Amino acid sequence: MLQRLAERFRARLESDSVIDDPVRLRTYECDGLTYHRASPGLVVLPGSAEDVAFVVRECVEAGVPYVARGSGTGLSGGALPRTDGVLIVTSRMRRILEIDPDNQRAVVEPGVINLDVSRAVRPYGYYYAPDPSSQQICSIGGNVAENSGGAHCLKYGFTAHHVLACEIVTPDGEITTLGDGPGYDLLGAFIGAEGTLGITTKITVRLTRIPETVETLLAAFPSVETAGAAVSAIIAEGIVPAAVEMMDALAIEAAEAAVACGYPAGAAAVLIVELDGPAPEVAAQFARVRALCERAGAFEQRVARDDADRALVWKGRKSAFAAVGRISPAYIVQDGVIPRTALPEVLAAIDRLSRESGVRVANVFHAGDGNLHPLVLFDDEEEGAGERAELVSGAILDLCVEHGGSITGEHGVGVDKARYLPRMFTEADLDTMQMVRCAFDPPNLCNPGKVFPTPRLCGEIPRVRKGSPDGELF
Ligand SMILES: Cc1cc2nc3c(=O)[nH]c(=O)nc-3n(C[C@H](O)[C@H](O)[C@H](O)COP(=O)(O)OP(=O)(O)OC[C@H]3O[C@@H](n4cnc5c(N)ncnc54)[C@H](O)[C@@H]3O)c2cc1C
Repeated sequence: MLQRLAERFRARLESDSVIDDPVRLRTYECDGLTYHRASPGLVVLPGSAEDVAFVVRECVEAGVPYVARGSGTGLSGGALPRTDGVLIVTSRMRRILEIDPDNQRAVVEPGVINLDVSRAVRPYGYYYAPDPSSQQICSIGGNVAENSGGAHCLKYGFTAHHVLACEIVTPDGEITTLGDGPGYDLLGAFIGAEGTLGITTKITVRLTRIPETVETLLAAFPSVETAGAAVSAIIAEGIVPAAVEMMDALAIEAAEAAVACGYPAGAAAVLIVELDGPAPEVAAQFARVRALCERAGAFEQRVARDDADRALVWKGRKSAFAAVGRISPAYIVQDGVIPRTALPEVLAAIDRLSRESGVRVANVFHAGDGNLHPLVLFDDEEEGAGERAELVSGAILDLCVEHGGSITGEHGVGVDKARYLPRMFTEADLDTMQMVRCAFDPPNLCNPGKVFPTPRLCGEIPRVRKGSPDGELF
């Protein structure tokens, strides 16, 4: 079947946009979650929405599953291909179609790299606010699918707050547009659906004015708990920084080894606090933030002198995930969320878990919105080490849920966390979500096997409940 599909695709698309050579297919066998791998049955690199729609229609007619892929930087296995399916890669759809500064919006194709949007609109005094640390390589289509966040989402919000409309190819191959209008918020359902409700082919994004002033502070603390207390104090003061990021000693060690960022020696934790906005407001709040950090126990504070200095401060943070490769052969990037106020308690509990299990955990995260990224380190050559790391990862997610948080903040569920979903949701919750999926994709061919723990086909509509004794209606 895949061979026949390859022939049909070659007959319509440019011939070099269809890949079936087994060696070349291996390029696409995983995303950033490298311990899940599968060589795709076939790869297609469409050049337009019409091409995508054609490929999807052919897949549906043949009953073949398909998966969209942007840049493959996802950390939850969302773009993991199917050996029996087609991988639709958007890397040839990289045109910025329109920049409309008067209406503060731009229209881009899905393969456009996140940072390229900001580069293109900077001459007009704007930028694109959501800034995943992978922004130099990840695609806007992938950002939409994951509802990606980033360091500055504390103040500016996530991808969902910056996407005004999406042209999509529906799971049955029709091109339509989801936007702001009366009726159900289908755009809201689509953003963050991890590529299970269709493939976006054109995105209208909101542009944000470049702020008048930016101030960046690097503060060093004697413990993770004191740094956590500083975060709570800043937010309790009513200040909303553009970003508040934290790294612990192990994460700092890795970043130093990789990019020599020159963070203060002897710090058990550093905070990067960035404020932006009108100059007088930033000046007043920045002074307050510095005082609060000092009161919480910061033993050194450095203020970025200029943009180059600021870039150096951020370099350590932005390189942290990859840098961990310097101190461990393998690691799992976790992505739990907790209320900010629980930071000191949960970080202490993670430390206890790490000491008791002997599994090292480095912490680098978006402290301002309680989005933890524990990096669980292990040696993949060592018998049983991967399993022990998985157990620690799961226990960290349990801690997050117990504290009223979530198993994912921005990296998505994908294949990685599907099994953890029942720790947060009841079966009825999961059934309801599955019904939404079935409404978009009855044959369950669009990125099947992702997000939900036990994928059901639409033929097996989840148990229909008709009004429970307490009046709950399903
Ligand atoms: C070093 C590093 C740092 C990171 N930092 C952050 C961070 O700070 N914040 C954050 O949120 N994430 C972060 N990530 C995760 C990742 O970069 C984001 O999830 C990103 O949005 C993925 O984009 P991508 O183009 O690589 O998508 P892929 O990995 O290719 O795909 C991700 C998902 O999107 C779907 N998809 C892709 N394109 C489309 C489309 N056109 N239509 C529908 N579905 C589609 C795929 O099927 C898959 O489910 C980081 C990753 C790395 C490696």
